[in-house]
Amino acid sequence: MIPLFIVISAPSGAGKTTLCDMLLQSYPELCYSVSCTTREPRLNEEDGVDYHFMTVPAFKKLIEEGSFLEHASVHDNYYGTLKAPIYDALREGQCVLLDIDVAGAEQVRNFVAGLPEDDPMRKGFIDIFINPPSLEELHARLEGRGTDSAAVIEKRVRNARKEMARASEYMYQVVNDDLDAAFRRLCDIINVKAGLI
Ligand code: 5GP
Repeated sequence: MIPLFIVISAPSGAGKTTLCDMLLQSYPELCYSVSCTTREPRLNEEDGVDYHFMTVPAFKKLIEEGSFLEHASVHDNYYGTLKAPIYDALREGQCVLLDIDVAGAEQVRNFVAGLPEDDPMRKGFIDIFINPPSLEELHARLEGRGTDSAAVIEKRVRNARKEMARASEYMYQVVNDDLDAAFRRLCDIINVKAGLI
């Protein structure tokens, strides 16, 4: 399998975390890029596993130091992908999975486009947008999750509408209407890119 550099974006509640977890279980060579964020940890989230949770000043220091491959403000919090762990993993022949928002994906896409054509990061690059079946369904899923207030849910649905308007910027789109079917479609995309089928 060639070292793949996979970017996945989706509105919150589209099932991206579940699908990413399924991918990580199915592909042992795939490693998850743990992002930095200034938002508060949710219940069950672990520092260093789900995110590197940090203060705004600590995040801003990393920006100044040029440590991020991309960073963006999402839902009033900062999120960013550190460069070094990604380079290290790809150099070791591992595949890397990034779960980032549309603004971050755009930065990564522009960065990759500026690399020489034979650069491993460019050769292994794919970006995929996961769509919920509908905005109504997304709203229902966010409510069902029970982790966010009504105001936060409204904001996430408004953001989802904007994000979905940019889905066509991605190489591939998958609709998560049925979890297993969406997972199979993701695997097909990855296997074709990796030269496995
Ligand atoms: P959540 O707070 O629900 O975990 O994530 C909110 C949004 O932030 C999701 O759309 C997720 O993809 C995005 N996100 C997570 N990590 C990063 C990152 O490192 N960079 C960017 N640009 N977005 C991120």
